[in-house]
Amino acid sequence: MELEPIILPGVPQQRPLVIAGPCSAETEEQVMNTARDLSAKGIKILRAGIWKPRTKPGGFEGVGTEGLQWLKKAKAEYGMYTATEVATGKHVFEALKAGIDILWIGARTSANPFAVQEIADALKGVDIPVYIKNPVNPDLELWIGALQRVYNAGIKRLGAIHRGFSTYDKTIYRNTPQWQVPIELRRRIPGLPILCDPSHIGGKRELIAPICQQAMDLNFDGLIIESHCDPDKAWSDAKQQVTPEVLDYIINMLVIRKETQSTENLTELRRQIDECDDSIIEILAKRMRICREIGTYKKEHDITVLQTARYREIIEKRGLQGAQCCMDAKFVEEVFEAIHAESVREQMEIINK
Ligand code: PEP
Ligand code: MN
Repeated sequence: MELEPIILPGVPQQRPLVIAGPCSAETEEQVMNTARDLSAKGIKILRAGIWKPRTKPGGFEGVGTEGLQWLKKAKAEYGMYTATEVATGKHVFEALKAGIDILWIGARTSANPFAVQEIADALKGVDIPVYIKNPVNPDLELWIGALQRVYNAGIKRLGAIHRGFSTYDKTIYRNTPQWQVPIELRRRIPGLPILCDPSHIGGKRELIAPICQQAMDLNFDGLIIESHCDPDKAWSDAKQQVTPEVLDYIINMLVIRKETQSTENLTELRRQIDECDDSIIEILAKRMRICREIGTYKKEHDITVLQTARYREIIEKRGLQGAQCCMDAKFVEEVFEAIHAESVREQMEIINK
């Protein structure tokens, strides 16, 4: 995929990119108040669900098209970019008509290739950033397939959102973050920006901060967090929404580490590591050659391959020596166990020739 970066004028290009706003747009007042308070905290991209996919019928299914006008108003009033979820071709049409800046495809939708294709078809010829949430099940190929469908429709400003995966067993998470899935996605599609959605992973307020920190330490590009001016009264996902003030606190507490420090210092240290690794391999090869000689000797003199006392001596001696050299004795013992196991394997081959 030849992706284009998602650059939004006025939004800092640094990690994390933050999208925040209520799970659902509920009333004009709620959207405007939340946008006002988020904007005051420096948030530049406002999210709000207009059409809500609900697990069971009878829940609040979103205010629908009417709510798009509130987002439009918040955009005009506070100069924020707006983002919403689309699940059908009609949603795309309505959102574009209302001037929504960013679209995302929800987890239930991205699990359905027919729905994703319908959205992709509606996006043909449109230039808008689109984020695709992981499907509810941990199926990387399905996630990639959804990204490909939208990419093939001509969307080059594409991103992904990790929102965790459903499980039958109850865990502390609402949707367990199987981090290896987005990590593998990054390897498969280099350059794809990946955001983390700690609200839907955690399902509760107190998990938002630690999940955000984990995402940052795993080098995610940004965060999409549910924030509501009065979270306890939210019409959907009340337990996982925080006030703009708490959101600001969470973001400010994050430690943002760099991926690499391509300073000369690090380059020099890495050169030294390479030198050490070269020596380790050479010395290991030499040790193995000697082991083979011993194997031949054992064969000629009818001596058993495994000499238990000698094995114990090596492990104990090297473990102690390792500890004296500021390493963990257990670690050194494990290294020598692995080396010894390979020597035994080679000697067994020699004996049985
Ligand atoms: C949402 O973002 O409010 C939402 C419905 O999320 P998901 O698709 O991750 O369940
Ligand atoms: Mn939600």
